[in-house]
Amino acid sequence: MTLDSDTTCALRTAVALVNALDPTTGEDRLETAAALRRFLQQHDFSAVGTLTAGDVKAVRALRRRVRNVFETSEVGSAVTLVNALVAQASALPQLVDHDGEPWHLHYTPPGAALVDRLAAESGMALAILIRDEGLERLRICEAPNCANALVDLSRNRSRRYCDVRACGNRVHVAAYRARRRAGASSDHPKREPLPR
Ligand SMILES: [Zn+2]
Ligand SMILES: [Zn+2]
Repeated sequence: MTLDSDTTCALRTAVALVNALDPTTGEDRLETAAALRRFLQQHDFSAVGTLTAGDVKAVRALRRRVRNVFETSEVGSAVTLVNALVAQASALPQLVDHDGEPWHLHYTPPGAALVDRLAAESGMALAILIRDEGLERLRICEAPNCANALVDLSRNRSRRYCDVRACGNRVHVAAYRARRRAGASSDHPKREPLPR
């Protein structure tokens, strides 16, 4: 894994942004300016000014575009989407060291609209990931009844399930129960501990 920690962090933010809307239930955790502020705090966004309903609307529209990058398995389409995210955010990368933090890159100038900051940061992190690691690391959870986005940062590229709903656990428990049912009528019932 060659990604720097700022990129990893921005990728987690992009995933969280996408997963703030559960496409299977329609539950949206970014419905108000207060909810958006909480989300930004959780993801260490500095200097967030007043947030309006317009910001919420813009961020939700951005979320759809970020999800598209996770949904496509075609690198050409992903690249087009990612380049558009960065370009339309009027990105202007610059080194900054505010609030006692070490030098790091901001991808938009001070005073940029929140949605542009989010778009530029997510877009750049996705661009770097595609360049350095490949699009395959961006996935949609494979668990039944789940369509959350995930970024697979595992060494062996083995991640298939999101953590939001502990899907890996759900799937393994279901498989275990199915094996138990099958095992109950077979000659060689399998005994194994229930996965936690
Ligand atoms: Zn900063
Ligand atoms: Zn899932």
